[in-house]
Amino acid sequence: MSETSRDALRERALKLDAADPLAPQRELFALDDGVYLDGNSLGALPLHVPDRVRDVLTRQWGELRIRSWDESGWWTAPERIGDRIAPLVGAAAGQIVVGDSTSVNIFKAVVAGSRLADRPDGGPSVHDGGPSVHDGGPSARDGGRDEILVDATTFPTDGYIAASAARLTGRRIVPVDPAEVRAALGPRTAVVLLNHVDYRSGRLHDLPGLTADVHAAGAIAVWDLCHSAGALPVALDEHQVDLAVGCTYKYLNGGPGSPAYLYVAQRHQAAFDSPLPGWNSHADPFGMTPDYTPADGSVRGRVGTPDIVSMLTLDAALDVWDGVSVAAVRAKSLALTDFFLECVEAYVPPGRVSSVTPAAHAERGSQVALRCADAEPVMRRLIERGVVGDLRRPDVLRFGFTPLYVGFADAERAARVLAEVLADVPGENPAA
Ligand SMILES: *Cc1c(COP(=O)(O)O)cnc(C)c1O
Repeated sequence: MSETSRDALRERALKLDAADPLAPQRELFALDDGVYLDGNSLGALPLHVPDRVRDVLTRQWGELRIRSWDESGWWTAPERIGDRIAPLVGAAAGQIVVGDSTSVNIFKAVVAGSRLADRPDGGPSVHDGGPSVHDGGPSARDGGRDEILVDATTFPTDGYIAASAARLTGRRIVPVDPAEVRAALGPRTAVVLLNHVDYRSGRLHDLPGLTADVHAAGAIAVWDLCHSAGALPVALDEHQVDLAVGCTYKYLNGGPGSPAYLYVAQRHQAAFDSPLPGWNSHADPFGMTPDYTPADGSVRGRVGTPDIVSMLTLDAALDVWDGVSVAAVRAKSLALTDFFLECVEAYVPPGRVSSVTPAAHAERGSQVALRCADAEPVMRRLIERGVVGDLRRPDVLRFGFTPLYVGFADAERAARVLAEVLADVPGENPAA
């Protein structure tokens, strides 16, 4: 790398940062002078959150105690916070409920999605008593829709849970590469579980097109938004997604283990038959009746008592999105990942790394994944030098770009330190 090209890239980074409308957001976060490129695994802490959580613990719990279920809005927090996430994923209010882990929500969505697919029209049902009213329509057992398609490249938990859901509902699991979903769809397909952005490669899948294909086959589309919500527009309502899940501790900065969310499109809510119909989803939870009558609306996706402390931590953390446009976030994310790739190209000797993240904007999430033969020692040294990304074994270096708090100078520095580290780690084909 020549010194002039380095100076030119640094210069450009400073200009891009100066012109970045999202740059002031960085001040809202607890960060040090390193470069944090792991917000796609654990988002950074917004600085105002600890005081808010202290209030939850000392005043709401410590002083109000049981009164807080009403007076502090604890009881309705899952739906209220769901409505705060809704605009970030293109959903109208009343369709998202927060609670449980992503894994648990995948279970609810895939099983309930299978039950929806069993219905002749997928239309509304009458829940007048029993938990499940399958009045007609072919069931999995009599040769109807007996297949659950799952992204074969998925984050493993999605595949594990989908396989169990298939066993429970008498179906078979069909792992498919997202590029081959179209060919695998058919009259036997009940549910298709896909990732919006692949956690490893950062590839963005075609949610509008794939959802339309799934619907054309008469099946239910379930999307996992873990690596897209908070990083790019999702438009769930516009594209008529049926069910969706996502976590909140990545791009939504909800904190370690913060609760996930479940989206059930309004048109499916009346027929949504949860496989975990806990008392929190009952129409009259305090009636304590032996019979289960599901509540209407997004509440039906609840299970048991919400994890209030984590949930209200997330609630506070979501304040950083006030007044932020998802379109601006997407524009910056693409500019950042473009710029990082350009700096890597300029600084890193040829052959040491290759990007597995698509170059086309339409296929790129908000991370850059670089294949590198020495990924493990390289990432260790990067972290020692303050550039924090992560490793996806065996050979992928993953760098997440969270537009609310990562800037262009960070991208330039990360690429420069990567080149310096690679010079110290000889590699299989040592650079001349
Ligand atoms: C992060 C992530 C999860 C996490 O699931 P948890 O139950 O919250 O641990 C699931 N699926 C995908 C695609 C993810 O990226």
